[in-house]
Amino acid sequence: PAPPPDRAKPRIIALANQKGGVGKTTTAINLATVLAGGHKVLLIDLDPQGNASTGLGIDRAERGAGSYALLVDGRPLEELLRPTPVPNLHLVPADSDLAGAEVELVALEDRERRLRAALAADPALIAGFDYVLLDCPPSLGLLTLNALVAAHSVLVPLQTEFFALEGVSQITQTIERVRRALNPALALEGILLTMYDRRNNLSELVAQDVRGFFKDKVFETVIPRNIRISEAPSHGLPVSLYDARSPGAQAYAALGAEVLRRQQRA
Ligand code: ADP
Ligand code: MG
Repeated sequence: PAPPPDRAKPRIIALANQKGGVGKTTTAINLATVLAGGHKVLLIDLDPQGNASTGLGIDRAERGAGSYALLVDGRPLEELLRPTPVPNLHLVPADSDLAGAEVELVALEDRERRLRAALAADPALIAGFDYVLLDCPPSLGLLTLNALVAAHSVLVPLQTEFFALEGVSQITQTIERVRRALNPALALEGILLTMYDRRNNLSELVAQDVRGFFKDKVFETVIPRNIRISEAPSHGLPVSLYDARSPGAQAYAALGAEVLRRQQRA
């Protein structure tokens, strides 16, 4: 992949949508992996479910300190970085305490800015990364808010199904609110259609609908529904290391290329 444009490193991208099961975590793992092909990447698991951590081979039992320690305890990022099976991709896992963070953050000073502050606390370390991906939980609570305040942009995965646009105003309104109050520079990285089914005409209709609404904000790349994508996490691997020739791996490779291309145009 081409080098990132000359701008402040790293580019921080949040994967957010208050709906669960739309492909946030799958996209976080697999986009991070593709970007790590030519760049240094950090993935921070902000979902108490910890699926991004499991999907990169860090099981619940061995998770140790992670994003809770970073946000709530103020532990230095350096102590929380974990290697993954993917060269050049590091992970801050979701620790077991993260489920309590939503509630505990409420009482803390600067509760929406904890992640931004934590990343800014070690400029030399963070500048060593080209991309930081933030995998958000399926809600618009304080964990997602922390991600949107820390990020340069948001990537919103949408499942290609009949009600795809239903509920999308919740995330777009939240992005608007964050822009007004907390992070004026927050951009929409793009809308990603996931679990696209070529054999189903409905997928094409839904895709047209979403493109009609969000125009060129929708990635040209669509992620097909592909069994290999859903099998890979149980092996603790991104799909490209599990089955590089699968349509899922190819689609995520195309997405990575498109993200880099769009950034050069920006
Ligand atoms: P979210 O993080 O938004 O809750 P996930 O990425 O965990 O969503 O995806 C939900 C489920 O759908 C997971 O079991 C995942 O393996 C599966 N999945 C995601 N994308 C695809 C795809 N393109 N093809 C097949 N299964 C997928
Ligand atoms: Mg998830």
